[in-house]
Amino acid sequence: MKDSYDIIIVGGGIVGLASAYKLNTRYPDKKILVLEKEKEVAAHQTGHNSGVIHSGLYYKPGSYKAKNCVDGRRELVAFAKEHKIQHDICGKIVVATKESELAHMNKVFNNGLQNDVEGIEMIGPDKIKEIEPYCVGISGIWVPCTGIIDYADVARKYVELIRAKFPQSKVLTEHEVKAFEKHTDYTDVVTPKGTFSGKYIITCAGLQSDRVARLEGVKPDSAIVGFRGDYFDLSEKGLHKVKNLIYPVPNPTFPFLGVHFTRMIHGGTECGPNAVFVFKREGYNKTDFSFRDTAEALSFGGTWKFGIKHWRFAVDEYRRAFSKRLFLDRLRGLIPSLEMDDLVPGRAGVRAMALAPEGEMIDDFRIEAKGNAIHILNAPSPAATASLAIGKAVEEMATKQFNLN
Ligand SMILES: Cc1cc2nc3c(=O)[nH]c(=O)nc-3n(C[C@H](O)[C@H](O)[C@H](O)COP(=O)(O)OP(=O)(O)OC[C@H]3O[C@@H](n4cnc5c(N)ncnc54)[C@H](O)[C@@H]3O)c2cc1C
Repeated sequence: MKDSYDIIIVGGGIVGLASAYKLNTRYPDKKILVLEKEKEVAAHQTGHNSGVIHSGLYYKPGSYKAKNCVDGRRELVAFAKEHKIQHDICGKIVVATKESELAHMNKVFNNGLQNDVEGIEMIGPDKIKEIEPYCVGISGIWVPCTGIIDYADVARKYVELIRAKFPQSKVLTEHEVKAFEKHTDYTDVVTPKGTFSGKYIITCAGLQSDRVARLEGVKPDSAIVGFRGDYFDLSEKGLHKVKNLIYPVPNPTFPFLGVHFTRMIHGGTECGPNAVFVFKREGYNKTDFSFRDTAEALSFGGTWKFGIKHWRFAVDEYRRAFSKRLFLDRLRGLIPSLEMDDLVPGRAGVRAMALAPEGEMIDDFRIEAKGNAIHILNAPSPAATASLAIGKAVEEMATKQFNLN
């Protein structure tokens, strides 16, 4: 006998779990199943990120990122307080170190004002020193509403609440979705451990989101490529040089925030991440390689166009990935007194970036609905900050698309 569900969600990252939680909160009687391929939820991007509760400063006013980040952050902080998830709204500074960065920093500041980010303030070199005594910059932005949290803790809390409040729903790990078999009124979702039937399907598969969407029958024109981010940790000797969070002015050409210093909620301070094109989507070591991932990335025209346009960036990031000295040089832009033995190698994460056929990185969140399915095709940073707002957007889209009322 197959288990039947109203909605089956593929992917137990923070976006899939927040969507399940929001849908069940709105529809407490619906039977929802989340299928996750790994042993634990939050095993990929959700458990390998910087753990920053982003303010909403950077994003283009009017974009889904801007709106969902600001709303999602406020809701996340309230959620963390209510459910006693360890977090700290410690604030951060964005620091310009060269005249050439000032124009973009002003743009970022104006985006923050338009996005309704509370309390932001332009600051000068003295205030930078007062907030972060080892940091040297010519101008900066103080962002008091930025914070830190462990997003795997948040994801596990969503699971706990789903299980406690909606016992008819389930979150199953070690269930990799391999196929979807379509019938008139339902879809069979096939895993090696069993087949489950669902009236409606939602896919939130992060680094595999294009493939899982394709399996389900849509043809996204974008493709996912992975960008690994390596981190160093501040050693005991270097730890006192950073109090909270220090960010550079980001390079306006890329949707990455630049290598930054982040105090972590469970202790320690990380420096990173860089952004290196990976040859394996879920590969966390520098030499990991997957024939399938590489062949697929290289057979997509967008990857070549991106590579041709940005080869200089790609080569620089690759060199830096293998050289602690080059990594240190970049960090010294913000903290000149940093020394080699202030850094020890840390962990890595891989970001899923959707590339368009023309080689542009798709910067904004992208969710598409077709027939009895909804696909989250692009949920890059700040999707962890925004998970509750994205979950709400998925719930509203599902209400319309699946006629749930
Ligand atoms: C290095 C790095 C730093 C970042 N920093 C921040 C930050 O500070 N703040 C912030 O807000 N965001 C940050 N982000 C972004 C944030 O982590 C992601 O936007 C968010 O985690 C995306 O969540 P997700 O659920 O879409 O993806 P994921 O967490 O990757 O989850 C997708 C899940 O789908 C599962 N899956 C895939 N295929 C299948 C299948 N066939 N069957 C079953 N399950 C499947 C995977 O195993 C995975 O668990 C960062 C990301 C990275 C990588």
